[in-house]
Amino acid sequence: MNHYSTSPSTVKTRSAALFSAVVPVYNESLLAVEFIQALANCLRAMTPCFEIIAVDDGSKDDTAARIKALGLTLPELKLLSFSRNFGKEKAITAGLHHASGDAVLIIDSDFQHPLETVPILFERWQAGFDNIYAVRRDRKDQTLLNRFFANNFYRLNQSLMSIDLPANAGDFRILDRKVVDAINLLPEANRFMKGLYAWVGFKGSPV
Ligand code: UDP
Ligand code: MG
Repeated sequence: MNHYSTSPSTVKTRSAALFSAVVPVYNESLLAVEFIQALANCLRAMTPCFEIIAVDDGSKDDTAARIKALGLTLPELKLLSFSRNFGKEKAITAGLHHASGDAVLIIDSDFQHPLETVPILFERWQAGFDNIYAVRRDRKDQTLLNRFFANNFYRLNQSLMSIDLPANAGDFRILDRKVVDAINLLPEANRFMKGLYAWVGFKGSPV
């Protein structure tokens, strides 16, 4: 069976007793607070019980303090704070270790991952997919040089690696609990998360 099939083999409906969102944050200040509030509204409309795990990756501005203050009025919000900046991959890794949900959303804190896509990813998870990743339709927002490197990265990867890395997909995705558990077992310290999401297998679906 094709690992990246677009329809589930058996139609089943899953529901999340708890849904988690992992949000890496670095020097986003007020934008992160606005984003987390918008994310909470989006999740509340989608599922009865959720948690938001914000991982402050050693921000040098007031990001951590602002998120902490928001937590006073948003009980679903949990904050992990790094001692220094370790990079997004490590922030996501920490978030995945602390997430307890049956399904876990990974999403940037700067509104670049559209919130209106989240319910679509979630419906795919409910239908039985395990690793539902958002795919960029185009890279019009990026420079020509960025587009050149992105296109050639996926082409090079395709010819060198045995796993099929979906082109133009990033961290924006929902992972089923079993995928999160599998990723959490991996010992890699220097992580390329996009590679690991694909490497662990399971039933994937692009949106
Ligand atoms: N981020 C992070 N650590 C970093 C850099 C970024 O946690 O060292 C967060 C950032 O706040 C954002 C996400 O990771 O939520 C993506 O970062 P950025 O917007 O810089 O990346 P891009 O949009 O270029 O992919
Ligand atoms: Mg960004």
